[in-house]
Amino acid sequence: MTAPARARNPLAFLEAEIEELKAKGIFRRLRVVQSEQKSRCVIDGKEVITLSSNNYLGLNTHPKLMAAAAEAVRDYGAGSGAVRTIAGTMTLHEQLEARLADFKHVEATLTFQSGFTCNTGVIPILAPEGAVIVSDALNHASIIDGIRLTKAERRIFPHADMDGLRTALREVRDADADRTILVLTDGVFSMDGDIAKLPEIVDAAEEADAIVYVDDAHGSGVLGRNGRGTVDHFGLHGRVQVQVGTLSKAIGVLGGYVAGSRSLRTVLEHKARPFLFSTSAPPAVAAACIAAVDVLETEPELIDRLWDNARFFKDGLARLGFNIGHSETPITPVIAGEGALAMKLSDRLFEEGVFAQGIGFPTVPEHLSRVRTIVTAGHTRDELETCLAAFETVGRELALI
Ligand SMILES: *Cc1c(COP(=O)(O)O)cnc(C)c1O
Repeated sequence: MTAPARARNPLAFLEAEIEELKAKGIFRRLRVVQSEQKSRCVIDGKEVITLSSNNYLGLNTHPKLMAAAAEAVRDYGAGSGAVRTIAGTMTLHEQLEARLADFKHVEATLTFQSGFTCNTGVIPILAPEGAVIVSDALNHASIIDGIRLTKAERRIFPHADMDGLRTALREVRDADADRTILVLTDGVFSMDGDIAKLPEIVDAAEEADAIVYVDDAHGSGVLGRNGRGTVDHFGLHGRVQVQVGTLSKAIGVLGGYVAGSRSLRTVLEHKARPFLFSTSAPPAVAAACIAAVDVLETEPELIDRLWDNARFFKDGLARLGFNIGHSETPITPVIAGEGALAMKLSDRLFEEGVFAQGIGFPTVPEHLSRVRTIVTAGHTRDELETCLAAFETVGRELALI
């Protein structure tokens, strides 16, 4: 039998989307890293200095992590074989969770396959039907998707607007003394590099008996003593009920975790959907993460070097006259304007031997398109000076400075 001729390709809208991306100048191909992820890598066949990884401390290629991963493969194999709630909880997962709880000074932690699945798994548990979520407008996409999975009411306050937050909390609490209120914020905002005003958020939440939930993906390993994160940075232990961290950025591997009370962990073990329905991390991942916690505890000089490099690079960009927003962390945006200009900046930097990914809508507003830079502990002064020279050349060419 021959298939009947189709009148129409049902996937034709995909072609239209691609045409639209091209028309807007924001179509891009994925760049391929062909070497280790270090400050200098081979990307698309060219050796470049990268300012685009989240490898803040260089742990991706730290010998202790690599050895721990290799040993775990030898002892336990390549995969975990099941979801955590059936047969996929291995000793290494439990060890990692105990280490993280100790490190974060909390009762318990629970790991997930990624920071993304952690948010989508935890938020629906903390905001059941009838609850109210109060969330910063610039929170990460995975928080937004976590919110979308709830039936809770949503109140979005303008980014970092503490009056907006307090007003929302007061209105909700005055109307109902018993409703569960969940306040959600990034610890470090991933596109701008500013730090949440956590002391004020915690004060406001305590007044309204609200839960505070901090997603510290970019704060983990970067802020606080030995990289314990934003809560430690502000000395707010015991006043933030839920901290989410990622193991995929400064920790150098893959995964996410939530840190909080023992009862939080117990309920999540029974109810968090990514935990119940998606296979656990391979043993090598858990082992490398344990080694990463060892490194955070024993080599704090990596964090010092990260911050030295961040200060040097930020000062350099500011001195050249770039618009670098109001970052307070090693994330430094270089704001170009419209999307096409940011992509041009990124492309020209690449030709000059520097990789800084262009980022536009929908990740940031169209008129604030940018390249986002992240320096790491692994960058040498020479490398950072080479980067600044490339920014100067291209910045002048594109009339950004
Ligand atoms: C990167 C990021 C995540 C996702 O973490 P992964 O481990 O990469 O899935 C979640 N939240 C924030 C704020 C992030 O920046």
